[in-house]
Amino acid sequence: LAQGVNAQWFNHSFEVMGTQAKVEFEHSDEAEAQKLIAQVVDEMHRIDRAMSPYKESSELSKVNREAAIKPVVITPELFQLLQRSLYFSRLTNGAFDISFSSVGYLYDYRESKRPDEKQITELKDYIDYRRIQLDESKSSVFFTDKRVKIDLGGIGKGHAVDRCIQILQKAGVKNAYVNSGGDSRLIGKKADRLWYIGIKHPRDENKLIANLPLEEISLSTSGDYERFFEEDGVRYHHIIDPKTGKSAWEIQSATILANDSTTADALSTSIFVLGVEKGMALVNNMPDVSAIMVNKHGKLFISKDLASSN
Ligand code: ADP
Ligand code: MG
Ligand code: MG
Repeated sequence: LAQGVNAQWFNHSFEVMGTQAKVEFEHSDEAEAQKLIAQVVDEMHRIDRAMSPYKESSELSKVNREAAIKPVVITPELFQLLQRSLYFSRLTNGAFDISFSSVGYLYDYRESKRPDEKQITELKDYIDYRRIQLDESKSSVFFTDKRVKIDLGGIGKGHAVDRCIQILQKAGVKNAYVNSGGDSRLIGKKADRLWYIGIKHPRDENKLIANLPLEEISLSTSGDYERFFEEDGVRYHHIIDPKTGKSAWEIQSATILANDSTTADALSTSIFVLGVEKGMALVNNMPDVSAIMVNKHGKLFISKDLASSN
């Protein structure tokens, strides 16, 4: 059993998917706990190997190379994640769209490289989730045009966090925290009190805009301060508005609280694109989902349920 009189806390931080990840949990057996840590690290790396757009050998890269030529048969895991991605595209009227990548891959944030207007105009129409066709009976994916490319950066880390929490739950762990970049999920409590999770100030990394006592929840933040460069006072960052093919400029930071990390991840990216008005309207219509947003002027907004629980 994971709990018991001898339970202690274990934690491990590591790098994966181009970001920092962390696992923290309570367990009564040191050797078992170390085994679980290794399993969590392996799981994150496995998902990265399968879904990274930067690795030629990944399943995702194969899809991007071949899916416009003929349907590509994919693993049930990737198929389900594509299904969920399309679900969020329909839910957000295309604000969430993994095919942002047809334009998105032309950005290099480290090299301050971005597509020019002509490239954006040419490719914008191929940011369109309806061009991604899934066939459940064959577990295959097909793109209706060779310019369609996909990237799971807006949902993959949330998926990885959910998978790791499942590994811990199956092993009987009751109290745990898993984080990858802006995506976290926690189960249970931290030594008889709730977890406190801070949300970074989008313009001052030493400040928090909120520090929330939480339990049994997933929390994801999308920010324009993670990957960006500035040119002539314009901030070119990694969240693309599918309607314009350019960075979404209404929001500095968007946080979602939800029951699972895949949902929180996809919706944080979505409301970042939708902006305060449409984003909050969406969230206020969803039971079990809350939001905290900072708009481009630095003004804070919270969803109805959070406002009334204060
Ligand atoms: P983080 O990378 O910190 O987890 P997000 O979850 O918001 O932040 O994901 C941002 C990533 O989502 C981008 O780096 C890109 O890979 C992907 N992305 C960008 N724009 C969109 C979009 N409109 N829909 C879906 N995914 C997107
Ligand atoms: Mg996201
Ligand atoms: Mg994310």
